[in-house]
Amino acid sequence: MAQNEHDLVIIGAGPGGYVAAIRGAQLGFNAACVEKEPLLGGTCLRVGCIPSKALLESTELYVEAKGKLGEHGIRVGSVEVDLQSLLRRKEKVVSTLTKGIDGLFKKHKITRYVGHGRIDGPGKVMVEQTDAAIELRAKHILIATGSKSSNLPGVAIDGNRIGTSTEALAYPAVPEHLVIIGAGYIGLELGSVWRRLGSKVTVLEYLNRILPGMDSEIATEAQKIFEKQGFRFRLGAKVTAARVEGDQCIVECEGSERVACDRVLVAVGRAPNTDRLGLESVNIQLDSKGRIPVDEYFATPVPGIYAIGDVIRGPMLAHKAEEEGIACVEYLATGFGHVDYNSIPGVVYTEPEIASVGRTEEQLKEEKVEFKKGVFPFLANGRARALHKTEGRVKVLADAKTDRVLGVHILGPRAGDLIAEAAVAMAFGASSEDLARASHAHPTLAEAIKEAALGVAGQAIHF
Ligand code: NAD
Repeated sequence: MAQNEHDLVIIGAGPGGYVAAIRGAQLGFNAACVEKEPLLGGTCLRVGCIPSKALLESTELYVEAKGKLGEHGIRVGSVEVDLQSLLRRKEKVVSTLTKGIDGLFKKHKITRYVGHGRIDGPGKVMVEQTDAAIELRAKHILIATGSKSSNLPGVAIDGNRIGTSTEALAYPAVPEHLVIIGAGYIGLELGSVWRRLGSKVTVLEYLNRILPGMDSEIATEAQKIFEKQGFRFRLGAKVTAARVEGDQCIVECEGSERVACDRVLVAVGRAPNTDRLGLESVNIQLDSKGRIPVDEYFATPVPGIYAIGDVIRGPMLAHKAEEEGIACVEYLATGFGHVDYNSIPGVVYTEPEIASVGRTEEQLKEEKVEFKKGVFPFLANGRARALHKTEGRVKVLADAKTDRVLGVHILGPRAGDLIAEAAVAMAFGASSEDLARASHAHPTLAEAIKEAALGVAGQAIHF
């Protein structure tokens, strides 16, 4: 095979793209990955999931040291945050992980091209660099370019005082008053970080609830907990403008409400990244939401061109992109691949965490599916008591006739880890009785899932 000629050229080295490259190489493809950033890992690793989790862990430790350790009878002296060290630790976590992907690429002999990838007709990708361009030939082209922060009309993002999650991962000082537009994943996670460090945090949310898409009973309970932590929510607030005025930021909502603050975080969703991708060179038309249309095999209407992750339909989640990347190259190499969209969990890494898989109560009602519900509060779980983390509950929803688990929703300690059990159970088509009869180690947080599953048949033992 000539130089610059590959079986598989992937554009984008986020969790979708780099995982697809590794799987492709495992399956015998001569794989290459084009990435414009010097670091591999995409938004998730560089300026998303990973750095936000690093900050969430550090700031929660601060909250614990400041107050919660006292509840365990541990007295500590004065506790202070060194923000610069905290931010440096986050950078170190990121750089260690990105170097890990470099290592994996070398191990799997994946060719890496640094530059902007643009399709230039069927089977051709140009890698545009500052002063040169490299032409690649590819049997299969996989677009995995992810997404970028959306903005609102009238909101003047300046990449400093009014910014997105990228800026909010690295504010040089703790804002006095941070206004967050949007009570979704990003708003609540990064709001938690700065609230814990002392900012006054006001969240302006267009809808009359937080976390649209999550089970509403769980979201309502979570909102109460966040309010106790000091979050202020203004629901039903449609932001129409935000700008810097002198040394303040002014945010305007529909009606006449104006909020003054010193920083604004715009967290109103993300949009597919299709800028300068050269889609016109192969005549790929985006759908009404700006996404690349694909079939069940991730094939675009153009032979040899595929797309996965945030640029196509479905939730914008790193692990969804990973599954799609793997399935796509498996289809290409073997003719078989699979993504179970019913069992993809979603997690909000607040304290407590919120995790969900499958259908919510509202969705089941809307779809007129008869279901039974089992609920178990962490207050009645021994391990949660020992941890002193008793807020929240587990909710299991099962089909009223077949008992098949249709959805599991958790608000509580380590919900993001606990949800894996429910996702596996759902992937195997488990019934609530299957979950309830499986032995769960005692005392563990996971027993709350078993108890909620028992609760579906009215048989919870400890509640
Ligand atoms: P989101 O879609 O989760 O929430 C955006 C919120 O902004 C919604 O509640 C929406 O109603 C609100 N909004 C929209 N217009 C508004 C307006 N004019 N005024 C006030 N509020 C308005 O989006 P996000 O939090 O920006 O996250 C973006 C994506 O990134 C999501 O798809 C999410 O799945 C992903 N993400 C995931 C995680 C995770 O898995 N833990 C973390 C961060 C981001």
